[in-house]
Amino acid sequence: MSRKNTTCLLPKKGQQLRCHCGCLAVLRPAEEVCKPPFPGAMAYVCSNYPRCDSLVIADPVTKQPRGSLADSNLRRLRYLAHNQFDRLHQSGRMTRKEAYRWLAHVTQSPAGHAHIGHMGAYYCQVVIRESKKLLQDPNPNAGRIRPNIGGEYHAAAQ
Ligand SMILES: [Zn+2]
Repeated sequence: MSRKNTTCLLPKKGQQLRCHCGCLAVLRPAEEVCKPPFPGAMAYVCSNYPRCDSLVIADPVTKQPRGSLADSNLRRLRYLAHNQFDRLHQSGRMTRKEAYRWLAHVTQSPAGHAHIGHMGAYYCQVVIRESKKLLQDPNPNAGRIRPNIGGEYHAAAQ
């Protein structure tokens, strides 16, 4: 099996996480390489750092990477996309579950597999744009996708 096909996936037992540039990722204190999102955060950082500045924050409990390694540009985009997306359920417009169903729809992901931490720049921009649009939509049902009836979709007003 080609090593190339295993990049950006969660490491399996006994397998090491690799950066999209092909280098191994190493677990380091996040404060050495970025602004840590919480105290004591650890990050998987490309072993070619700082020539390649890709990294991903590790879960504080499981130590699993919270997505795929991303360079500073993509990390910024993912951050912005998450901020916009979170407003959909934080505003009370929809439940968290409904918001994730909507996220899967707009990013054309299978239900339950839409994770901003795995998205590339293109889908981050889609999430930012569509979330903003939805937040401004006066129709309270906009963006609500009813499950089990063919994924009927209440499109947001243009
Ligand atoms: Zn790298």
